[in-house]
Amino acid sequence: MSHVVLEGITKRYAGHHALNGVTVSVEQGELLALLGPSGCGKTTLLRCVAGLTTFDGGRLRIGGTDMTGVPARKRPIGMVFQSYALFPNLTVRGNIAFPLTVRKEKNAQERVEEMLELVGLTEQGDRLPNQLSGGQQQRVALARALSPRPEVLLLDEPLSALDAQVRHRLRDEVRRIQHQVGITTIFVTHDQAEALAISDRVAVMNRGEIEQCAPPAEIYSSPSTRFAAGFVGNRNALELDAVDGEVFDVPAPSSRVLCMFRPEDVSLSAEGTRATVDVSVFLGATTRLYLRAEVNGQPVTVFADLPSRAAAAISPGAEVFFRVDPDHVRLFPQNP
Ligand code: ATP
Repeated sequence: MSHVVLEGITKRYAGHHALNGVTVSVEQGELLALLGPSGCGKTTLLRCVAGLTTFDGGRLRIGGTDMTGVPARKRPIGMVFQSYALFPNLTVRGNIAFPLTVRKEKNAQERVEEMLELVGLTEQGDRLPNQLSGGQQQRVALARALSPRPEVLLLDEPLSALDAQVRHRLRDEVRRIQHQVGITTIFVTHDQAEALAISDRVAVMNRGEIEQCAPPAEIYSSPSTRFAAGFVGNRNALELDAVDGEVFDVPAPSSRVLCMFRPEDVSLSAEGTRATVDVSVFLGATTRLYLRAEVNGQPVTVFADLPSRAAAAISPGAEVFFRVDPDHVRLFPQNP
């Protein structure tokens, strides 16, 4: 049986549905990312698991036990917030020891040292939070959440307050620690790159519902809904009329379709769709070309990411031909 099971969780605020029957499970030791735009309900869902928000309908089980009426402090969870929420007057060691002291745990000191080592802060153990960088403070928050050996770790946008470089480093560090401890984890983020990089599975949320829940590579290559296709990764999105029921050699479900494909699924070829290069943007390993073309008789701009070596000789104004890999074209019906 799955470790954390949510069944049909609903939550209403003044007649507005923040959660609309959310069903999802997290396996033992798995990291599930809840990904979606602001207001889609991901924080509310995480707080329902934590017991910080009550839900109106549905069921929550952790390790087979129904948690519905169980208060937050009795749930086997550890939580980390975006704002670190450390005790400013306690040292790093004091912060990590705090949940152990509350529970009157034996061997607390040993456990604190173990946690310091896990997050790489042994040398900073006697500092106060305001003597640490943001990234270090978040490591302390993580160590504090893990110190009482919770069954489930809940992370609410833990990296959002950090600058880009620290955020990337800590993201990989959180993943390493989560693996090492083997703890079942739910990670809330609005950053699609972060969700893809860190998780075993991503649940894409929109308007209080999960639209798709799958491993990162599957979410990226086979988005099952229009929203998931648009929210995760870069994509071309063209509204087109299908000609003879087809767009880019792909059968279209209706005459007017939204056609989506990734920029890396566009390649230049000896024949195919004729285009004029509008702009060329060097991005390092790849170069992004904006191509003006006609698809099914309609003017469009398509962007293509090509290896920079292949794109080096192509300047704005050049005439090229391109193809879109039909296996990676997604078509969604549009109203006429
Ligand atoms: P963000 O990334 O901005 O935190 P989110 O996806 O985490 O967004 P939630 O915070 O879960 O979204 O909010 C979901 C919806 O519920 C929003 O429309 C929000 O305005 C509403 N909501 C959340 N908390 C409350 C509350 N205490 N009272 C009323 N409405 C609320």
